[in-house]
Amino acid sequence: MNIVRVALDVPVPRLFDYLAPDSDESDIGRRVTVPFGKGCKTGMIISLAAVSEQPDAKLKTVTAILRDMPALPGEWLALCEFCARYYQTPLGEVTSFALPPMLRRGKLPRVNKSMAEIATAPAPSARDTGPGAGDITPAAILPQLMAAQQAAVTAIVDQAGFHVMLLHGVTGSGKTEVYLRAIDAVLAQGGQALMLVPEIALTPQLEGRVAARFPAAQVVCANSGMGDAARARGFLAALTGRADIVLGTRLAVFMPLPRLRLIVVDEEHDASFKQQEGLRYSARDVAIWRAHQLNIPIVLGSATPSLETFHHASTGRYAMLELPERAVAEAMPLVRIIDTRREKLQEGLSAALLAGLQLRLERGEQSLVFLNRRGYAPVLACPPCGWISRCQRCAANLVLHLADQRLRCHHCGFETRVPRACPDCGNVDLLPFGRGTQRLETMLVERFPEARVLRIDRDSASTPTKWQALLATIHAGEADILVGTQMLAKGHDFPLLTLVGAVGADAALFAADFRAPERLFAQLMQVGGRSGRAELSGEVLIQTEYPDHPLYQALIEHDYVRFAQSQLGERRIAGFPPFSFQAMLRAEARTMEQALDFLAAARAAAEALAVGVTLYDPVPMRLQRLMTLERGQLLAESMSRPALQTFLTAWMEQLHALKTPAGLRWHLDVDPLEF
Ligand code: ADP
Ligand code: ZN
Ligand code: ZN
Repeated sequence: MNIVRVALDVPVPRLFDYLAPDSDESDIGRRVTVPFGKGCKTGMIISLAAVSEQPDAKLKTVTAILRDMPALPGEWLALCEFCARYYQTPLGEVTSFALPPMLRRGKLPRVNKSMAEIATAPAPSARDTGPGAGDITPAAILPQLMAAQQAAVTAIVDQAGFHVMLLHGVTGSGKTEVYLRAIDAVLAQGGQALMLVPEIALTPQLEGRVAARFPAAQVVCANSGMGDAARARGFLAALTGRADIVLGTRLAVFMPLPRLRLIVVDEEHDASFKQQEGLRYSARDVAIWRAHQLNIPIVLGSATPSLETFHHASTGRYAMLELPERAVAEAMPLVRIIDTRREKLQEGLSAALLAGLQLRLERGEQSLVFLNRRGYAPVLACPPCGWISRCQRCAANLVLHLADQRLRCHHCGFETRVPRACPDCGNVDLLPFGRGTQRLETMLVERFPEARVLRIDRDSASTPTKWQALLATIHAGEADILVGTQMLAKGHDFPLLTLVGAVGADAALFAADFRAPERLFAQLMQVGGRSGRAELSGEVLIQTEYPDHPLYQALIEHDYVRFAQSQLGERRIAGFPPFSFQAMLRAEARTMEQALDFLAAARAAAEALAVGVTLYDPVPMRLQRLMTLERGQLLAESMSRPALQTFLTAWMEQLHALKTPAGLRWHLDVDPLEF
């Protein structure tokens, strides 16, 4: 009997058997529509079988096997199977996630004639033969590579087979130039290249640079901001081998690429490579697995590598490629620490920073005040009675947004008008406490009336169009003082920007999350890297009450390695990653008791299975309540990744069998980034 095993997007870790009389081997990796429950679902054929474990009478017949596009290759299915295993997620959820939404629903994008042809044509093989092979290589005049860049390019392209390389170099050291040269070599050999970038509206710039460099190559973009049809078309172009370069955010790691010869992960430390819901995968880690499976090189680039990556590069598991110099500016910006302990600040700004801003105004240069907190103030309070603005749904404060007179929860999106008087006592003198970007903006406008002040955060750059307009304003030199969050930190060249002031950074030094200092260091390095990228030299002023903190001292020296080594020393003693491997079980329920009870039961079920694995006590999450649900977590940790994996697989079976009260939901996060 012809039976197909189908992966369906349902939260059950198994495949579903259906009769498919006209199916054969070539249908593996095809989408299929099947009857399911009272309706119909589209899934993916994973394998064929002659007999089913289910009684024949129970088997239903597929509605239709969709043969309107080429089947997904075995390599792609293997990638999904790996993710299902590693992240303990049902295969059907993975294959469904890995497809663009339109294809997932069993549809195809509207096509022109040539698209229709490729949909059925076999994927072309290597392009290294025949006329036209050289067409893809660049025509423009390229900069002469510096010695370190040349060495990096050689290391990437000269060795065959799987190797992971860390390309470590500050902003402007020419990492992108190295990627482009390596991609060039890959295209010349008829290969495809995959380049992953963080999830911000950065891709247009990079896309332009890549397209300009390879005018004859087909460059496909993949990110969640794209329209359905465009994403599906890009996916098909990749699958059929027409795409030469795929450039995208984390989801692009699932693009099928039959001739893939090189993977680049730019800003590999960036937290956006890890998805925080559904399939909680790390695109960087999945990319490394994929490179290993295909036996191809992978380059991880960063000025501030994740400590995991740096650790592997220092112990020789990865190759370390260093770009020690900036390609354009002469020197790194001068970093100065402003000790604010004995100073009376003016609306949070020190005299030194104010003087720096004044000087840039006089010189006609740009400055940036960096504050990683949007809104006007983190909370509105009534001092006489003690009322503060709290979210009704979360264990969090409502943030004051004066610009549009709203109180907003930054966790669940709840919002309400700013009350005219205290809801508890009627007092009309409500006070904003603390400081966000809007408040800084207001203060700077008052203080420097002649300056053009521009705020850049998720509120002012809420759409890609607004974001592009803000960038254009900065580039045209039509802003003098920028006030911005980390949105501004990444990947932009601002030639007129010569001063960066960082305020409110100290909070991260003592945060509960052990990764907070790593993130702070990366952000400050990045934000500092924005200054002085052209002829003008840059200066970075960091306001702090802890001027001697090793993190800031390392920053003065631009010494990532020193910082990384000291952090790794602490992590080693504490037994944190990369010296251990972790998985977090999280539960949310109507009451904290229910959540913690479930976790306690999960822990009890684990006792017998946990060989070489430490289980911690169930505890409330830092943000205890979100969207009216109480949340708890339970950490599992091991010195051995295989031991943890073996345990998790066995544990998941037990977890699925546990009784849960109505409304309780749980998930497992492997290699969690958020604590
Ligand atoms: P990164 O990706 O490390 O920030 P880029 O590759 O974007 O660095 O390089 C920064 C700037 O320097 C770009 O404008 C780039 O064109 C230029 N550049 C890179 N390498 C060289 C070189 N060898 N000679 C001259 N300019 C270079
Ligand atoms: Zn909320
Ligand atoms: Zn009050």
